[in-house]
Amino acid sequence: MRIGITGATGLIGRTFTQLATESGHEVIAYSRSKRAVPHAAQTLQVPSKAPHQLPETTLDALIHLAGESLMGLWTTSKKARIWKSRVDLTTQLIAHLQNSWAPANLPSVVLSASGIGYYGSRGDTDLTESTPRGDGFLAELCEQWEAAANQAESWKARVVNLRTSVVLAREGGAYQTMRRAFRLGLGGNFGSGRQWMSWIHLEDQVKMMLWALENPKVQGPLNLSAPTPELNHNFTRQLAVSLRRPAVLHAPAFMLKLLMGQMAEEMLLASQKVIPSKAADLGYQFTFPMLEDALASLN
Ligand code: NDP
Repeated sequence: MRIGITGATGLIGRTFTQLATESGHEVIAYSRSKRAVPHAAQTLQVPSKAPHQLPETTLDALIHLAGESLMGLWTTSKKARIWKSRVDLTTQLIAHLQNSWAPANLPSVVLSASGIGYYGSRGDTDLTESTPRGDGFLAELCEQWEAAANQAESWKARVVNLRTSVVLAREGGAYQTMRRAFRLGLGGNFGSGRQWMSWIHLEDQVKMMLWALENPKVQGPLNLSAPTPELNHNFTRQLAVSLRRPAVLHAPAFMLKLLMGQMAEEMLLASQKVIPSKAADLGYQFTFPMLEDALASLN
């Protein structure tokens, strides 16, 4: 397949580009920067002020991962950038392809990033792809982001919304931040520790994306999440064991909210027990179904 990918310089994009290339696909990376993306057959620059304007080429599939990082303090301007780089960018990108590209060049499969933020904070409820959206900024963002991507159905593309949970990777993201904290002796539970944390190993994230690309039965929302979500205090304990560091500290919910505001509430303290139902029904085999093995592989 000839696969176009936005956000190819990011954590998931880089690893996906390598896997897809090694699996015999041709990857065309789109980036705001000029630098060639490793393993991609070609890197095409997009204008940084109009990153939806993808230069035209023939694509079988498009993977759309670009978006402003969610990390940091969610000030009004940060939230506006998060929204603009996801909902607005995706809307403009799909419209650009439809209006400016020759129909023969349009991708017949579109995998577009989303997140488990779609579900909001839901206590002990099992969250499958058919669970309605929850409350909060991320839930509204994901709903609108998915709706924007679904516009590719207008040219009969198969659209998959990648509802990704916390990606565990040695190379970056949440795990790297947690590992740094533990190494400084600052590791511990978030809040009560009784909230569910859903996670996926980077290797499964990209393998599942490739599986979704190659499997025509996969369509619509897809939970990219290991089958064994963990309570935050169990996650913390297993992380401490794998890093051989103590987890004696406890960051009270009020302190996290004071320091990190809405981001802490929606990302660190939210309870999300995500079940990868579609992956189970359609036969995806996880490489890292258990947290202990996933953490051991990252050391
Ligand atoms: P990264 O932050 O590592 O990379 C995202 C890429 O998007 C960047 O490399 C950049 O590419 C591009 N980008 C950044 N800011 C903007 C902007 N303001 N406008 C346009 N493009 C921008 O993301 P990940 O690889 O971690 O994640 C990919 C997608 O998956 C994201 O949309 C993310 O929200 C989602 N996701 C990730 C999770 C995770 O744990 N990692 C969990 C749930 C969802 P360039 O500079 O080359 O243009």
